[in-house]
Amino acid sequence: MTLRSRLFIGGAWRAADGGAEFTTYDPATGEPLGRCAEASGGDVDAAVAAARAAAEDPAWTRLAPAARARLLWRVADLVEEHADELAALETRDQGQPIGIAREVSVAGAAEHFRYFAGWCTKIEGAVVPVSLPDTLHYTRREPVGVCALITPWNFPLMIASWKLAPALACGNTVVVKPPEQAPLTTVRLVELCERAGFPPGVVNLVTGGPAAGRALVGHEGVDKVSFTGSTTVGREIVRSAADSLKRVTLELGGKAASVIAEDADIDAAVQGSLHGALLNSGQVCAAYTRFYVDRRRAGEFTDKLASAADSLRLGPGSDEKTALGPLVSDEHLRRVDEYVRTGVAEGAHMVVGGERADGELSAGHFYRPTVFGAVRDDMTIAREEIFGPVLSVLSYDDADELAERVNRTPYGLAASVWTRDLATAHRMAADIRAGAVFVNSLPIPDAAAPWGGFKASGWGREMGPQAIDEYTETKGVWVNLG
Ligand code: NAD
Repeated sequence: MTLRSRLFIGGAWRAADGGAEFTTYDPATGEPLGRCAEASGGDVDAAVAAARAAAEDPAWTRLAPAARARLLWRVADLVEEHADELAALETRDQGQPIGIAREVSVAGAAEHFRYFAGWCTKIEGAVVPVSLPDTLHYTRREPVGVCALITPWNFPLMIASWKLAPALACGNTVVVKPPEQAPLTTVRLVELCERAGFPPGVVNLVTGGPAAGRALVGHEGVDKVSFTGSTTVGREIVRSAADSLKRVTLELGGKAASVIAEDADIDAAVQGSLHGALLNSGQVCAAYTRFYVDRRRAGEFTDKLASAADSLRLGPGSDEKTALGPLVSDEHLRRVDEYVRTGVAEGAHMVVGGERADGELSAGHFYRPTVFGAVRDDMTIAREEIFGPVLSVLSYDDADELAERVNRTPYGLAASVWTRDLATAHRMAADIRAGAVFVNSLPIPDAAAPWGGFKASGWGREMGPQAIDEYTETKGVWVNLG
């Protein structure tokens, strides 16, 4: 059955201008899955106008914080009530194993709405002790206004929630643009927001590709862009937003390093590295992709990692026994394969993998997990974001040079350290230039903890109290009491 979806603008579902549509595919089979409205520039104008009107409508601006909190809490309840349906839809549209869809995507979405529901009643200003005589100064935290929320295809439901929940908690209005490769769970989430009872125009949805994203970013009526996606597009967004100086937050690419110290529990490091690298088939911005292993343990680590990777079961995400689902598209699979060929050509030693899965999986976009040993820092596979199941093992002799090697990248999103020594753990955590350092653990975010990148991995932070800062403007009020 082909699913159909429309645009949601000003509280009404409608087709795109001229009825334009695009197709979304099931990556496990390559078969068409849904037909979605393809927003035109005119549709984007209408969505921004609806969001602007709602941003000035007392039905939203005067809504008590406690009432806003109840709306967000209601979305969390609705996400949980529809958990099975949402998880199945995410698996079909994006490809992720159903257990990941249930326990990471859907659970993460609900938790974000709950966490930020709590914030609605706690967005405080401050009384500031200015030195002017007889003057009261206080600050107000006000919504930024109309926010364009643009998301990528790897965790569409969860990442839409990372943006929608804090934006709405702070009293903004939004236009959401999900990824064209996997838009369907975001469409469903917007339907649930409608059911929760947000006033018309507070939440708007435009589906489409880069053209719809560009129209939003360049739109004069948009006050803030919150973007998650590639660094290349992030740069284009900054250039486009420069004219209007609209607010921009960016969650971009990564090339997370893992340090495996001589004293590490190697079996724990292998398991953690495996799952940290191959969650969602490596289509994770914080995926561990380059492993700096103490040379004395490198052989053992590489052998165990390769054999564990090779034993993972590839298959459609809908099969509960699947550990690794497909890549999102054939185009992406070809890109991943090209990186693997480059690794071989540059002299890396391929231990396992390196090919598309065949047999009954050949119709889908399945790629065998690939482990390279003897990788050097200057090789392409050690430097560029691959966003697939390709793991590179490097070794080190001198721990004093390690942080410099780990940091020799334009990215700075995440890293991990595997050690039993507290001093090593905290020294590396301080020296690595990344927004998150995981010690003996997996790269799983939490709504309460700030998430974002140093350097080319982005601007600003999502989650935690930092997200409240990103979705509010601070106003100072000066009162002459003399
Ligand atoms: P992408 O940059 O190609 O697309 C992301 C979104 O932007 C899509 O909705 C797309 O339609 C839209 N878009 C494309 N061109 C645009 C333009 N010029 N103007 C406005 N919008 C535009 O990224 P992708 O391939 O969907 O996602 C993979 C990337 O996302 C990887 O680099 C990954 O590291 C990154 N990512 C980062 C995080 C994080 O938290 N830092 C999380 C997930 C993914």
